[in-house]
Amino acid sequence: MHAVQFTEHGDVDVLSYDAFDDPTVGDDEVLVDVKAGALNHLDVWTRRGLPGVDLEMPHIPGSDAAGVVSEVGEDVTRFSEGDHVAVTAGRYCGTCEFCRDGQESLCVNYHLIGEHVRGVHAEQAAVPEENLVTVPDHVEWHTAAAASLVFQTAWRMLVTQADVGPGESVLVLGASGGVGHAAVQIADYAGAEVYATASTEAKLDHARECGADHVVNYEEVDFASEIRDRTDGRGVDVVVDHVGPATWESSQKALAKGGRIVTCGATTGAMAETNLNRVFWNQQQILGSTMATPGEIDDVLPLVWDGTFEVHVRDVLPMSEVQRAHAMLEDREGFGKVVVVPDSEHDA
Ligand SMILES: [Zn+2]
Repeated sequence: MHAVQFTEHGDVDVLSYDAFDDPTVGDDEVLVDVKAGALNHLDVWTRRGLPGVDLEMPHIPGSDAAGVVSEVGEDVTRFSEGDHVAVTAGRYCGTCEFCRDGQESLCVNYHLIGEHVRGVHAEQAAVPEENLVTVPDHVEWHTAAAASLVFQTAWRMLVTQADVGPGESVLVLGASGGVGHAAVQIADYAGAEVYATASTEAKLDHARECGADHVVNYEEVDFASEIRDRTDGRGVDVVVDHVGPATWESSQKALAKGGRIVTCGATTGAMAETNLNRVFWNQQQILGSTMATPGEIDDVLPLVWDGTFEVHVRDVLPMSEVQRAHAMLEDREGFGKVVVVPDSEHDA
């Protein structure tokens, strides 16, 4: 088969789409003929190299994909040949104290398909049964491939960790990205008044289409001051911050008393300064969130499949153009998800 791969960490030029040994299917695994994959910022970090993650080379990147089941291992019970499936990337042990408590994304051995082990940006992928969900036949491959990681992440952040409800206000930073556009839709669905930031008018229009009630161009104004102005000095109940040091101080300033910041990532770096006066006096809460539990995934993905939530696809490229696909994420132009498809499917 052909697979996206790299043999060393580095810039986009380490990526190629070349021949790779066909995957073998374990007893608990399902062989998926991949129809489409989707990129996440995680793919960029993994390609550049993450501290403490020692990959078996060559590495196949990719945490999101969808396709058709072509073979099942002996112990597989939930899937059979011909089923449409999508990958959910989180791997967990099932036996540690957190897994036993139903908190699989806190698993002491939590790791991700595509980040720590070989991923799914290939013509075929052997995926453990527990890392697949059924996709109804009417759902387009691009949607099926691009939904899983960002919608499960945004769902756990807003619904479980921040527990957003009607009457509350939510500010989503970077609303044009994958997680951002999912977060705007989920906050809107939860009944919140949604504020969104982005850097261009086109991206702000896109945030409005996703359900944002108010938009702020952070290139033109200080978003924290703007939020305080628009809320009569109160601030918002929840800030979704996946940016990090570039926005952290402003996120705290934009927050109402008793508000919570929820973070699932830090694209501008890991170290940020926290104003502790604001934490204790305003009783702010800082909430972390990673991926989601199988139960949360079962809650959110059907809302994508039935059209309640929409996956915005920015562009679809053949896997042979994976270097350009990665560059699109790094350049932060446009909005929505970048999808890659096996060249055989792209030409079909
Ligand atoms: Zn565990």
